Amino acid sequence: MPLSDIIGQDAAIAALRTAVGREAVPQSYLFVGPEGVGKSATALEFVKALLCKQPRQDPFDACGACTNCARITENQHPDLVRILPDGELTKIWQLWSRTGHPPGALETLPFRPIAGSKRVYLFEKAETMNEESANSLLKALEEPPPYVQFVLCATAPTAVLPTVLSRCQMVRFRQVPTEIIAGAVERYRDLPASEARIIAAYSQGAPGRAFRLADAPEARDQRESLLALAERIAHSPGIAAFRLAEELRIAAKPPAVKGKKGDKDDEAAETDKSTRGDITRAMDVFAAWHDDLLSVALRGPNAPLVHEDRRAALVGAANRYRTEQLAENVETLFTFRRHLARNANAQLATEVLMLKLVPRKGTAA
Ligand SMILES: [Zn+2]
Repeated sequence: MPLSDIIGQDAAIAALRTAVGREAVPQSYLFVGPEGVGKSATALEFVKALLCKQPRQDPFDACGACTNCARITENQHPDLVRILPDGELTKIWQLWSRTGHPPGALETLPFRPIAGSKRVYLFEKAETMNEESANSLLKALEEPPPYVQFVLCATAPTAVLPTVLSRCQMVRFRQVPTEIIAGAVERYRDLPASEARIIAAYSQGAPGRAFRLADAPEARDQRESLLALAERIAHSPGIAAFRLAEELRIAAKPPAVKGKKGDKDDEAAETDKSTRGDITRAMDVFAAWHDDLLSVALRGPNAPLVHEDRRAALVGAANRYRTEQLAENVETLFTFRRHLARNANAQLATEVLMLKLVPRKGTAA
């Protein structure tokens, strides 16, 4: 996939090409944007074009055929050093050699590149550097040898130390419009347009996330279960909230885990981080469903919908609520996510959530 195939990041790519055209490529780049929008994909293609033996011109791009291009595609290039976090953090021993660990990635800085004129250090999640790692990188960013190219990717400018930020040329990556993502998913994966549209709507402007969803058929089954549950909420009395909450906690589990569901250990696991993470992800489905409900309430039964295939169910469910409550529910889901991310008890939080989401007594149309 050359630079020209990157989805929806024309401005960022134009900035990179301009720098190449002026022969003024800064030695340290910081690519900034939400997760999955294409920072790493762009970085790899840009690096490929920089190391390519016969790069295309106007517009600048990799040839895709030379040995350097092929080795980068196969992740086998000796002058491309990719640095990913170990667990949740990029730790000091990954950068500089420490006893009991493999050699640090930056220890090769003084040595000239092997296969071309540049050696590239690509930090794919620079926001995961702890202070120690980030500080240790500063000196290298300040006076890199002439053949060194740094590319750091991070979710936000504030996610890296200001001292790191100030030593890099920043390139911003934007959320990609839903229609562009839907078109790409339909084109690159064998999926019907309706499914591509749903996946695009769930991807929050991140093509990477959309392709991960498209490549996980089990995610589709899980979405269907969660949507069925969301529909039942609209037809349930308040007294059913506790049962619905339990169903949500079960439906939110990734399919692989759900199969080997235990007994008592399960209750203990309810409070752990992964359960909260699962429920947070399940809330993407609930949020999209409630957005559709609100669209029906505000614009009528022919409103444009994400879940086009469930229009009848959505119209039926929307009729069970007053519009004010639907607007509140959208807000409730938003707040719930943040609340859960801050260590809320999953069982209690989901019960409170369900009590709020069920149609309020006497308000059904
Ligand atoms: Zn090439």
